[in-house]
Formats: sequence, structure tokens, C-alpha cells
Amino acid sequence: MNADQIRIVLVEPSHPGNIGAVARAMKTMGLVKLVLVAPEQFPDQQATWRAVWANDVLESARVVATLDEAIADCGFVVGTCARDRRLPWPVLDPRRAAEEMAAKSLQGEVAILFGREDNGLSNDELMRCNLHLAIPTSNAYSSLNLAMAVQIVCYELHMLEAQGGLPERSNEQWDEPLATQENIERFYVHLEETMSQIGFLNPAAPRQLMPRLRRLYNRLDMDEMELNILRGILTETQKRCEPVDWSEQNGGKS
Ligand code: SAH
Repeated sequence: MNADQIRIVLVEPSHPGNIGAVARAMKTMGLVKLVLVAPEQFPDQQATWRAVWANDVLESARVVATLDEAIADCGFVVGTCARDRRLPWPVLDPRRAAEEMAAKSLQGEVAILFGREDNGLSNDELMRCNLHLAIPTSNAYSSLNLAMAVQIVCYELHMLEAQGGLPERSNEQWDEPLATQENIERFYVHLEETMSQIGFLNPAAPRQLMPRLRRLYNRLDMDEMELNILRGILTETQKRCEPVDWSEQNGGKS
């Protein structure tokens, strides 16, 4: 595992006390990279108090305005959530997920996303992920405090290291770097545009096509070379087709 390539991302945390508690949870488990997406109140005394001896983690925390900025350079993104979502996604418990994340941290930057105290992560945010992580709980109450959820996830990463790390095979180096989120998002825009031009996706009625394709491609953990090949196929397809005029097809409504 490369702990320097694993970041904890808090999406719109509302309570500064939780941010401090997250910093403490991270540092006790040997993780130090914290990114805050549009925190309601930060920096704040309550965060400093709750961090105790982990103020260095708070001070070096990166504050950004959007999730895009927080994960643009990441090759593997994990979203934590308690509830089942409408479109099932690959999901692992913290122990199995730790193995995946540790292996991916040898290939590129890994982000672990944690959601808002009241609403968690949105469906769109969860669709950005390669993997979902759910902490098993009682059926009666499945939602942990934010910092406690972070603690459990970081603990499993730490335990994996303490027990000797990953088996040899997972340490093998891949020949190409993982595709970054920034490039993957460009690919999805390109894919959607091409599918519309060839008449496969009606922009006025896209249904679940993009979420399903995101789920397909996100399962593959594509590298930059693979992504470039797919982009190249799309570009050639576009060059050779007469784009469909959907406004005509939809009776002037698109
Ligand atoms: N009410 C929200 C939960 C918010 S808890 C909801 O139902 O989605 C704040 C954050 O802690 C969540 O977004 C998630 O990142 C994490 N979390 C809480 N309980 C969790 C669980 N059982 N498994 C995984 N993550 C959890």
C-alpha cells in the first residue's frame, strides 16, 4: 500500500467538529491526506479542538469547491454509503475494500468519499465511483457518525498493513497508469455525444443509458492507454457518420 496516494474526501461536511474528529481518526491510522469539498464552516475552533494532536492533518487539508476538483487526478474512487441504491453497484465491506484500495494505491491516486451528515452522497456522486463501500450494521440503524465511519475504513487499511500488506501478486506493476477521473469524465461526455450523433441515445429520453455505461466502464479500472483507444474509436465514428438531428426526430422538442 502507498498511504501517500490515498486521500479521504469529505463532501460538504456541515459540522466542523466532525472534520476535526475525522483528522484524528485518520492520523491514528497513518493517513494524512484530507480534502474538504465546500465545507460549511472551516477552519473552525471546534475542528481544532476535536482534532487534538492531529492538527497537522487539518492544517494541510485541501479545501476545494467541487467534487470534480477533489478527484480530478484520481485513478480509483470509492464511495461510502449505508443504503442500497436504485442501480446496484459493486459493493464491498471495509476489509475487502481495503485490499482493493491498497492495491490500487500502488498504481495511482485513490480517493475515498464520505457524504454529508444529513444526506450522504448523492446518486450522481456515487455514480462517479469504481466501488462502493458499506460498513455492515444492524438492520435497525445503518447510519454511522461521519468520523466513526472514517475511523473504521482507515482502521482496516491500517490493519492490512500491520498484517504484512497485500499478497505478492497484487504488488505487480501495471504497464500503464490508471486513467484519471478528469479524463474519464471527458470520455463520458464524448461517448454521450457520439451515441446521440449516431442515433443511439435520444437526448430528450436518455433513460438509464449513461448510468449503466458508467457502471460498466467504472468496473474496469481502465488505464490511460485503454481510455485513449476508446476515445480514438469514438472520434473515428464521429468522422464517418451523418449526425442525427434529434430536434427533428423529437418533433422540435429536443
Ligand atoms: N443519512 C445519510 C448518512 C449520512 S452519515 C444517508 O442515509 O446516506 C455520513 C457519511 O458517513 C455517509 O455519507 C457515509 O460516507 C458514512 N457512513 C455512515 N454510515 C455508513 C455505513 N454504514 N457504511 C458506509 N459508510 C457510512
